[in-house]
Amino acid sequence: MTNTPEFDSELLRTTLAQLDRVAERLHLEPDIHLRLRYARRALVVSIPVLMDSGRTEVFTGYRVHHSTALGPTKGGLRYDADVNLGEVTALAMLMSWKCALMGLPYGGAKGGVRCNPRAMSAREREHLTRRYTAEIILMIGPDIDIPAPDLGTDEQTMAWMMDTYSMTQGKSVPGVVTGKPLIVGGSAGRREATGRGIVYALYQACKSLGQELKGKKIVVQGFGNVGSVAARMLWRDGCSIVGVGDFRGGVWNPQGIDIRQLQAHAAETGSVVGFPGTEPVSGAELLERPCDVLIPAAVASQLHAENADRIKAQIVAEGANGPTTPEADAILRDRGVVVIPDILCNAGGVVVSYFEWVQGLQYYFWKESEITSRLQELMVRAFTRVWNAAQKNGVDLRTAALMEGIRRVADAHVARGLYP
Ligand code: NAD
Repeated sequence: MTNTPEFDSELLRTTLAQLDRVAERLHLEPDIHLRLRYARRALVVSIPVLMDSGRTEVFTGYRVHHSTALGPTKGGLRYDADVNLGEVTALAMLMSWKCALMGLPYGGAKGGVRCNPRAMSAREREHLTRRYTAEIILMIGPDIDIPAPDLGTDEQTMAWMMDTYSMTQGKSVPGVVTGKPLIVGGSAGRREATGRGIVYALYQACKSLGQELKGKKIVVQGFGNVGSVAARMLWRDGCSIVGVGDFRGGVWNPQGIDIRQLQAHAAETGSVVGFPGTEPVSGAELLERPCDVLIPAAVASQLHAENADRIKAQIVAEGANGPTTPEADAILRDRGVVVIPDILCNAGGVVVSYFEWVQGLQYYFWKESEITSRLQELMVRAFTRVWNAAQKNGVDLRTAALMEGIRRVADAHVARGLYP
């Protein structure tokens, strides 16, 4: 199925190429390898929404379950103008490897709606979310598939999804989504989890390289949930955030940017652009400016064959999913740049989503300090395993992380056998 034309997309081609390469290294059985290349199921829905103008618009949405071998599926919901079936399928596949790598009892899923959420009112986004939820209702549930926020969606989106699902069940079902507001069963620390996980990964990377994270110069692309939290924590921990970018462009100050004030500016104006005391730079140029650490935390394929030679950072921490193309990956590897791969680096979000799900199922909630220390434990453990495996096998961190994630999903398939 995933080899058929309707699934074609750049990210899926990349993700399948990664799987094929790792399957060969792992000497996976050919029939298991073949099964991993396919999504288990994919649903395409049309979503009619009455817009504020009085016209009706029809949007296209997707929900894809990649693998259910390890448990119910888990994965974000993205609202973006570039969403397509192949991209959602690739992201679902990456979720399978990520959950397995982190030792979570989940398979991978992903959802998306092709739209521009920034051009829509809150009422339009609510109607879109509720109708999308109703259309995919057979695919989701606390023990089937549990969505979470991703690009262009947030806690409010999850509250609307949970409410819509609960209305169809005649009872409140908090476990159907994670990343909800605290008041309706969300978890302490979920909003910060992905950014916080990136910071833990960076601490471990620096430690492994015999370096100090404190004092490093950092560039962050994307100032949403992931990028802004990572930037704020790194700034608080004594790093110098020299450049930040978002969909409108970037800002640069080699002396370091006050992230608290930048957050206030972005909240007021909707963008980092125009922040006083900074030099304006284009989004593309920002990535190539001198720094020690680059955190791409926006969209896919930002580091590619044309700019990888000019990236100055010694460490790339992938906050976004799929920000580095395979060509760029090879160039960065040859240049000795350490790339902390997405399935490890941004796994903090799904780890705390798992904690939220467990708390919701038990109706028993933990303190933020417990969440944070458990997250740290899982991130440090996973990083150390991946780092040691990379050293032992003479491969980069991405290959080592994929080897562990894919191996576990493959083992679950072998243990369960093939139905019927
Ligand atoms: P978000 O919508 O909160 O923020 C996205 C940010 O990226 C915004 O600042 C936006 O302006 C910027 N952006 C969008 N398009 C851009 C472009 N073309 N160039 C530069 N900047 C652009 O989204 P988020 O939740 O922070 O997610 C960001 C990335 O992290 C996505 O790739 C997502 O899949 C990944 N991710 C998110 C989570 C999570 O918990 N939210 C977990 C794992 C991975």
